[in-house]
Amino acid sequence: MRFLFTNGTIVLPDRLLEQGQVEVVGRYIRAIDAASTAATVPHGTHVVDLNEGFLVPGFVDLHVHGGAGHDFMDATEEAFRAICQAHARHGTTSLLATTTVARHEQHMEFLRVCHNLCTPPQSSATAAALGGTGRPTFAAERAGQLPPTGGARILGAHFYGPYFAKEARGCHPGAAIRPPRPDEYLEYLSFGSCIRRASVAPELPGAETFVRACRALGIGCNAGHTHATFAQMEAARSWGITHVDHLFCAMSDRARLRQEQTYPMRGGVVEATLYFYDLSTEVIADGKHLAAELLKLAYKIKGPGALALVTDCNRALEMPDGEYVFGPRDGGEPILRRDDVGLMPDGKALASGVMGMDHGVRTMLALTGAPLVDVIRMATLTPARIAGADKEIGSIEIGKVADLVVLNRDLHVREVYIGGAKL
Ligand SMILES: [Zn+2]
Repeated sequence: MRFLFTNGTIVLPDRLLEQGQVEVVGRYIRAIDAASTAATVPHGTHVVDLNEGFLVPGFVDLHVHGGAGHDFMDATEEAFRAICQAHARHGTTSLLATTTVARHEQHMEFLRVCHNLCTPPQSSATAAALGGTGRPTFAAERAGQLPPTGGARILGAHFYGPYFAKEARGCHPGAAIRPPRPDEYLEYLSFGSCIRRASVAPELPGAETFVRACRALGIGCNAGHTHATFAQMEAARSWGITHVDHLFCAMSDRARLRQEQTYPMRGGVVEATLYFYDLSTEVIADGKHLAAELLKLAYKIKGPGALALVTDCNRALEMPDGEYVFGPRDGGEPILRRDDVGLMPDGKALASGVMGMDHGVRTMLALTGAPLVDVIRMATLTPARIAGADKEIGSIEIGKVADLVVLNRDLHVREVYIGGAKL
C-alpha cells in the first residue's frame, strides 16, 4: 500500500511543517516534503486529504490497564484485543499492557497472553544479524496488516503491581501486595522478552535485587506506588531505576514524610523526581487527576524530553458511568466511573483514568499552554524512548514505521494508521 497524506500540518519532532505532505510505502515513512516540492503522485497511491488538520505520530501509552469493559488482568486474548482496539480509536498505536496487584497465578496468566500478542521492538542490530535490511521493524507484523491485536501494538508488558508499598497502594487491592522475592519473580522474568518496564517501591526489602535482575534482561525499571525517601530514590537510581510512575499520585513528598519524621524536613519521591534530570516521569493528563499548576510544574521542570503523558486508563474507557472492577474480576477493587474519571466507591479518592490519549493531548494543551510540538512529543517520542522503541516509532521521520494519526483542526481523531495499515 502507498499513501500520500497532504493538505495539512505535519507535526515533526521539533517543529510544525505547514502545508506539508508525507508519503508512506508499505510499513514505512518514505518521504516528508513541503507540498509544493512533491513530484507527481505515483499510480496506485491513496491520497489522504488532511483537510487543513494535523498529521501526528501515533500515540504511545506507557500506562494502560484496560478499556471497552475489559482489564488486561482479565488475561484473555479477547480482552487484550478489545482494549487495544478501543485505545487505537483514541489515537494510541503502541502501548504497554499494564498489570495491577493480583495473585501470582493471575500475573502468570496475564504474561502468557501478553507473550502471544506482543510485538516488541527489534533493534536494527538484531535485524541485521537476522539477515534483514537493518531497517528497524517489529517481528510478527506484516505489511498491510494491523498488529496481532487488531488495534494498538503491544510493545510488551509494564509489570506494575504487586511490588508496591501498602500505604501507597491507591486503588489497587491490598491483600496481594507483597515485596519482591526471587522464587516468585524469576517465573515472571522467564517472560522477560515481552516485559518492557517493571515497577517497584524502592523501600521494599528485595527491591534492589529485583531491579538488578530486570536490568540484566534489558527491562527498564520504574519507582511506583512508593513512600520512599529522597535518599532511597537516590540509591534506586544507582540500581538502575530511570522512571517514576504517575508523578504526584501514590507517592511520598515532604509533607507526607513529616508525619513520621521530626527534623530536618526531608524530600520524598516527588522532590527526587523533580530534582534528578536522569529520572523521567509521566503525568495522567486527564484534567481530573492533576490541576493545571501541577501539569505546568511537571512540564516546566522535566521538559518534553523527560515527561510522558499517560492515560492510566481502566476498563471503563468508552463505557457509561457506573460501577466497575479495577484489576482482575476475581479479587480486583470496586471502583466508579463518574465525571470522566475513576473514583473509589466513596467518591473521594481517585482510581485511575477512563479517557483516551487524544483527550490527554487536548487537555495538556488547554491547561498548560505548552506548544503543540511539545505536547505531541510527550505523547509520542518521549514515551517511545522510555519504552525502548524510539528507533522504530514515536516521530514522523523517514525510515520509521508508519504509525500515524490524522487529527482534525480541533485535534479530534479522524483516521489511524498502524504500520502503514489503516484502522
Ligand atoms: Zn498507579
